[in-house]
Amino acid sequence: MPELPEVETVRRTLNTLIVGKQIDRVTVSLPRILQKPVDPEQFAAALEGRTFQSVERRGKFLRLILDGLVLVSHLRMEGRYGLYEQDEPTETHTHVVFHFSDGTELRYKDVRQFGTMHLFLPGEELKAAPLNKLGLEPLDEGFTLDSFRRALGKRSTKIKPLLLNQEVVVGLGNIYVDEALHAAGIHPERAANELSGKEQGRLYAAIIATLSAAVEAGGSSIKSYVNGQGEMGLFQHSLQAYGRTGEPCVGCGTPIEKSVVGGRGTHVCPKCQRAPRGASAEGSKRTNKTRANAVKSRLDGLGQ
Ligand SMILES: [Zn+2]
Repeated sequence: MPELPEVETVRRTLNTLIVGKQIDRVTVSLPRILQKPVDPEQFAAALEGRTFQSVERRGKFLRLILDGLVLVSHLRMEGRYGLYEQDEPTETHTHVVFHFSDGTELRYKDVRQFGTMHLFLPGEELKAAPLNKLGLEPLDEGFTLDSFRRALGKRSTKIKPLLLNQEVVVGLGNIYVDEALHAAGIHPERAANELSGKEQGRLYAAIIATLSAAVEAGGSSIKSYVNGQGEMGLFQHSLQAYGRTGEPCVGCGTPIEKSVVGGRGTHVCPKCQRAPRGASAEGSKRTNKTRANAVKSRLDGLGQ
């Protein structure tokens, strides 16, 4: 599933491919992709004659800006965009085609059919579902440590599912959550409101560093992720926790362990990312000394 770096790569690629192109007509062969309006004829009629002006992103959603309309598109599991000449054969699983006046076509292909498209008037898209509940944008200047702390607030949810639900910070999926938590030395089952100030700071920095590095590398590729120009992502060999079960932690050499947290496969270094008490077998094996220290630091925390 594409996460922020992959969607950002698609955004940048589409910006070079479709800006300035005018839509002649739109064909929809799988209406369920359309969420607003749901009627393919209405959807197509609204877009005819309009020109793509820029391609933006909010979290894992693309915002395709046209003159007078905004198309919000989520690729979900395997959605892809590609630009073709109109006489090139159409591949199977191509569900929406934007036919341009210059003889090219933007084709949306989606084998799993989970992708979505919404049309809004400009500005309205940020006030309504699916974009209105989204959290902080981690690569924006407005993402400060203070704003991150405020967003975490008093939430007692486990940190991994909290980061996955997009309400605190957007763009992280299963891969980059594992990467960021590993880089920050925080166990995915820690309660968000029990992270120390230092840990919040490490996590904040790790989220930015992990996503920035992946964006720079053009998005990672776990399955056959391909960007709008057919280029494979290049980051998959740089992952330090995700998918490295049994391989040595780059920090300490301890084998990475895989477990399930919030229903998702999760990769941790049991030494660098200490489990909270009672969360796993590792947690119950902690020495009395570690427990005593944990109690002491909790008491210290209460005193502050
Ligand atoms: Zn380690």
